[in-house]
Amino acid sequence: MEQIYTIPVNEAFDAAAAGEQDGCPICALYRKLEENELDLILGASMMEPAIRIRTNQEGFCHGHYTKMIGRQNRLSLALMLESHLDSVKEMLADPALGAAGEKNVRRARELEGSCYLCGRIDASLSRMIETVVHLFAHDPAFPGKLEAQPRFCLPHFRALCETGRTKLGKKAYLPYYRAVKGVMERYLDKLRGDVSWFCKKFDYRYDAEPWYDAKDSIERAVAFLSATDAKAKEGKKKA
Ligand SMILES: [Zn+2]
Ligand SMILES: [Zn+2]
Repeated sequence: MEQIYTIPVNEAFDAAAAGEQDGCPICALYRKLEENELDLILGASMMEPAIRIRTNQEGFCHGHYTKMIGRQNRLSLALMLESHLDSVKEMLADPALGAAGEKNVRRARELEGSCYLCGRIDASLSRMIETVVHLFAHDPAFPGKLEAQPRFCLPHFRALCETGRTKLGKKAYLPYYRAVKGVMERYLDKLRGDVSWFCKKFDYRYDAEPWYDAKDSIERAVAFLSATDAKAKEGKKKA
């Protein structure tokens, strides 16, 4: 089993259970992996020929281009873009790709759907999610830790369940699923109540009432539904 991921997974679940880190623990793991990959690609990896070949082949998604622009290493990014643009130019000029460009249009579509960083982050995150499932089944302390999570976002609920179903037998999957679903239901009830109160606050009859936890409920609902927690700033505490 993926022993190397046991420590980061336990750390993320401990921090979220203790309220030290707001939100979905899988989103927190994603943010850590992403930070690490951004450091690598704008640092040591950028000049490596083998990696350059892959970034030319896979490109980056809009979100990761934006994050790279936001970092202070414009020269690394420019050098990578220079060779990426060359590879696009070669693709257009390649006579083997069909006179009417059928193949290079298909190639452009492939490029739109791929991202070197997303690929690397998703591969590591998948192994971390497998570690969650493994720990639930084999570490007696882990089920309680999982049940104490403040929330899982909907996309990571899906990933946790799909991985659990593949990795665990039917009998072992059921208590795992119940624990994950329990976290979801608890948070969903609270979130639904907060959004509902947010709507009520627009009614003049509720003017004098306090906001309770409703003020950031829109942002929290979007984060819950779309895993945008993963993109939030690490360690940022919500009011
Ligand atoms: Zn998440
Ligand atoms: Zn990406």
